[in-house]
Amino acid sequence: MTKPAAISIKGLSKSFGATRVLEDINLDIAEGERVVVIGPSGTGKSTLLRCLNYLDHPDSGTIRIGDLSVDADKASRADILALRRKTSFVFQNYALFANKTARENITQALITVKGQPKADAIARADATLRETGLADKADAYPAALSGGQQQRVGIGRAMALDADLMLFDEPTSALDPEWVGEVLDLMRQVAEKRQTMLIVTHEIQFAREIADRIIFMDGGKIVEQGPPKQLLEAPQDPRTKAFLRRVS
Ligand code: ADP
Ligand code: MG
Repeated sequence: MTKPAAISIKGLSKSFGATRVLEDINLDIAEGERVVVIGPSGTGKSTLLRCLNYLDHPDSGTIRIGDLSVDADKASRADILALRRKTSFVFQNYALFANKTARENITQALITVKGQPKADAIARADATLRETGLADKADAYPAALSGGQQQRVGIGRAMALDADLMLFDEPTSALDPEWVGEVLDLMRQVAEKRQTMLIVTHEIQFAREIADRIIFMDGGKIVEQGPPKQLLEAPQDPRTKAFLRRVS
């Protein structure tokens, strides 16, 4: 028997006003699977990630993560908080608190999202900072860090939450080229732990290397998906072919 999917998204739809941004997204993700989403801009990739933890409230559809199932029609405040505890989010622009140190940015998340006692949160934050190679930056404020270091704190904050699903929304696209490598290296390190990851990125080579599966989205729909080799080297849909010609 095949193992049930750790994460199951059914019939997810979302409009902003008259614009239909996500249209009936169905997606299962296995435990430990690394899934990369690619596609043109404005196609709903960020909205998909944001709907998964209700940063955007989906119009319809069900999201199941492990034993928690949340239906858009009847999502309670408690459901949404529970979903947020099962996911962690790495933002394109890092989304660090400017008035908090690297350590405090991580402890804050552990205290507010997971309700951890402060001493535990500090211990976990320091362990994560060591893991991300930023132990010497624990007391630094974001403004004193490079873009690459800031995003590594952002990833560290998401790692510290020990979420069932880590969501990455174009984590390197706001970075100067010189900082991209260290951020991708840290993401490789996370992937090696078989953390379940859903990553939106334009880094096609990176996707080829770490993804178990690549999904191509266009116009709010999943157009095509498959193992990296298949999707990148033998795409079937003309939209996938056109997109790959543009980005590679
Ligand atoms: P992608 O991440 O693939 O570039 P997005 O999910 O950010 O795409 O956006 C998809 C579409 O939804 C775009 O047309 C965008 O303008 C629109 N959109 C996204 N967020 C909002 C919002 N909060 N209000 C109105 N329109 C939005
Ligand atoms: Mg986006």
